[in-house]
Amino acid sequence: MTRSQAKTPADIIERCRILFDDLGFTAVREWKAADPQRKVIGYMPIYVPRELIHAGGMLALGVLGGGDSLEVIHGDAYYQSYICRIPRSTIELAITKRLDFVDGMLFPSICDVIRNLSGMWKLMMPGVYVRYFDVPQNYRDDLGGTYYVNELQELREGLEGVAGRKITDDDIRRSIAVYNENRRLVNQVYTFRAKTPWKASSYEVYLLMRAGMLLPVEEHSQLMQDYLAAAEAADRPMRDNCRIIMQGSFCEQPPLNLIKSIEMSGCYIVDDDFMLVTRWLLEDVPLDGDPIANLAHAFLHHSTETAAKYEPDGARKGKYLIDAVRDRGAEGVIFAAPSFCDPALLDRPMLARALSREKIPYIAFKYAENSGQMQPIREQAGTFADSIKLWSEA
Ligand code: SF4
Repeated sequence: MTRSQAKTPADIIERCRILFDDLGFTAVREWKAADPQRKVIGYMPIYVPRELIHAGGMLALGVLGGGDSLEVIHGDAYYQSYICRIPRSTIELAITKRLDFVDGMLFPSICDVIRNLSGMWKLMMPGVYVRYFDVPQNYRDDLGGTYYVNELQELREGLEGVAGRKITDDDIRRSIAVYNENRRLVNQVYTFRAKTPWKASSYEVYLLMRAGMLLPVEEHSQLMQDYLAAAEAADRPMRDNCRIIMQGSFCEQPPLNLIKSIEMSGCYIVDDDFMLVTRWLLEDVPLDGDPIANLAHAFLHHSTETAAKYEPDGARKGKYLIDAVRDRGAEGVIFAAPSFCDPALLDRPMLARALSREKIPYIAFKYAENSGQMQPIREQAGTFADSIKLWSEA
């Protein structure tokens, strides 16, 4: 490919944007239609072992709600109004048959809302494999570890039922290798953005990661390689922006305009917790030995810290966020959580206290996936960025 034919970041992100906007999941439907044996397993935020789905020859589809363009008409009847929006918009996707091609759905244990949704899915979608995927909150190998190995084994057997074939240890090892590669590339993109945020905007990085929720993982890895090459080669001006970390958006996703607004207000987002499934495991999962035990060990001992994970040592609460601020060279933190999100909002005061002790500035607000009015957020984030710049110059 000549230089003039090389893809630009805009070309790559345009494709991601089309995938993002398509609430009918045309790309996934086409993938499935290409072979009658193909199956699709949906999963909700924030972590499921996608390696097992891939090992069964199936496509893992991240279902992250309806965003800001889906009108929720039926979904409101299923839930009270004082909870977050993602379960209602996900129900809406189901009732309007936008997910009628999905053969199985996994509901990770993140909160009661998701747990209840798994039960509702069973009633609404007879014939679809539904699993509430529980994960340990005790990280001892002999307790939580034993439990989690059994949970993974049960999931493997359930997925075999959907795939219509055995999922062998070698199948899982091959899939672990594919996802190790994908995680390495995700981390490369995040590191690239943190080092040179003017070359990779968070708007672009977000769409790139969203594409990974519905493309085959191999294709997503290639897309990230293409993006890294294109963004590196692009000539983009560096701005005197403030470097911040966004925190609390790990389940219901912020509207794309919110991310854009924060950037336009003068902030570079140098880390975030959107779509943690792509970065949950912090190291490569070993390929030798028992692959189920290896996945369990990685979950217990090499996984990210988040509000969805119990931290028994109060003194360590928030340490991961402080470390991220130091590692990424961030100057402040923006807590942005979905309205009524218990895990994020219950964690926030403890994290905020930890930041205060270290004199790391922060601001906090809430959003819904369909929030439309961005001006107050832009003003708040802009004032925050200005105040950091003033303090740092003092
Ligand atoms: S946004 Fe928060 S409260 Fe709502 S389903 Fe997700 S984790 Fe649960």
